[in-house]
Amino acid sequence: MKKYKVIVIGAGPSGLFSCLELAKAGIGPILLIEQGKDIYERTDRSGKDLLCGWGGAGAFSDGKLTLSPDVGGFLGEIIPRKEVKHLLQQADDIFLSFGAPAKTYSPPGEVLENLAIQAKLAQMEFIYSPIRHLGTENCLRVLTNIREYLQDKIDIRTETKVDQIVVESGQAKGVRLPSGEVLRGEYVIAAPGRVGASWMKKEAARLGLTATPNPVDLGVRVEVPAAVMQKLTDVVYEAKLIYYSQTFDDRIRTFCMNPYGEVVSEAVDGLISVNGHSYAEKRSENTNFALLVSSRFTEPFDDPIGYGRAIVSLANLLGSGVIVQRLGDLLAGRRTTEKRLSRCITRPTLPEATPGDLSFVFPYRHLKNIMEMLEALERIVPGVYSRHTLLYGVEVKFYSHRIRLNNELESEAKNFFITGDGSGITRGLIQASVSGMVAARAIIKRHKGQPRKNSDLIS
Ligand SMILES: Cc1cc2nc3c(=O)[nH]c(=O)nc-3n(C[C@H](O)[C@H](O)[C@H](O)COP(=O)(O)OP(=O)(O)OC[C@H]3O[C@@H](n4cnc5c(N)ncnc54)[C@H](O)[C@@H]3O)c2cc1C
Repeated sequence: MKKYKVIVIGAGPSGLFSCLELAKAGIGPILLIEQGKDIYERTDRSGKDLLCGWGGAGAFSDGKLTLSPDVGGFLGEIIPRKEVKHLLQQADDIFLSFGAPAKTYSPPGEVLENLAIQAKLAQMEFIYSPIRHLGTENCLRVLTNIREYLQDKIDIRTETKVDQIVVESGQAKGVRLPSGEVLRGEYVIAAPGRVGASWMKKEAARLGLTATPNPVDLGVRVEVPAAVMQKLTDVVYEAKLIYYSQTFDDRIRTFCMNPYGEVVSEAVDGLISVNGHSYAEKRSENTNFALLVSSRFTEPFDDPIGYGRAIVSLANLLGSGVIVQRLGDLLAGRRTTEKRLSRCITRPTLPEATPGDLSFVFPYRHLKNIMEMLEALERIVPGVYSRHTLLYGVEVKFYSHRIRLNNELESEAKNFFITGDGSGITRGLIQASVSGMVAARAIIKRHKGQPRKNSDLIS
């Protein structure tokens, strides 16, 4: 039986960047296992196919690379910030070498200062990060180029799910497939993404690895005519704004802004939630972004994922999927109907969303937080708190359980690394990619006989 040097689980950005680093260093043989389809067969953008397959959730994503250690993950808590910045730069260069567009959004200092002042006056914090926007069509091109580069350098098994990580005497030895077949590997890197987070959590529990819940972020996707947001999006593309609500002192933030983009539905583990993306060339007449409330809970409750799932299922129960409501209807205490929606000047880019009433879905706390932030936003971008603003629910970010890892992203089981969004350490394309590079480089170092870092386990 062939024994692999490294087995990588998941062909999302994180797994792919591990493979690129390992292949570049001449480490092998490498096996990449992916439960979804190969890039050439990824044509279906619904259900699990949106998130699974070559490129992972990144394939049909908006492809915004946020080039800052403060956005898209917690790598800066494990690895010195300066090092993360350097790694982000290297990952960005790799994206460029595989065909990412050269343009970044990095406006002059005085423009940023002015935005920060306006945000402060509206009781918000503005966080700036330079952005490279690939657009969904370029994501597919970059991922296809990576596929072709890796073609003859690694073994690839798509439409193959890993069932278990094989660990013997506290050390990874390979993976087991649902058929019972065991594939042997000296090192295992698991990069299962958010779609594989519940599997990862179960595996961590079975292997006795320490995992703690991350907070769940719940909220709505807001859609407005693009002209309303232009003042921000033309300058910074995506404005990251944070607001602490007056009533609950909760943290609410804007997330994933898609100028001229589309709202999409996303199916994970039997639930339908809402998301958004935009293309580099194709344009809709609207801009969408999420408003997310971070929920931390009081003891003894420790199942934020379960809580998030319950709220999404409520929307699915009432609306058979995603619910859309005009802000004006929500404020007037009435549901949106097909007829009312047809009179809305913001034309929905997710026409299959069911017109309904989000006040039946969200707890008072969440709804109040969202309304307060929209009102505050109105002071920066007039027109956002309009009766014609569309709210889609539910948007949820589960962020996986955070598994105990050292600064090389190795778990408490030796030679078993966990990277990307499925580890609970990252939340976006570029930090996921960097995490894959970090694990691969640790393996390369050991392969070359260099001493291991003094890797204190951190939670
Ligand atoms: C619609 C949408 C838009 C987005 N837009 C952006 C954006 O603009 N900017 C940004 O930074 N981020 C964006 N994201 C998030 C981004 O896509 C993710 O952060 C990123 O893809 C995470 O990379 P990953 O490699 O950790 O996981 P993923 O990309 O989720 O890949 C994990 C892969 O592992 C596979 N897998 C899981 N379990 C197993 C198993 N047991 N066996 C075999 N294979 C398995 C899955 O099928 C999947 O293909 C977006 C996400 C979506 C859904």
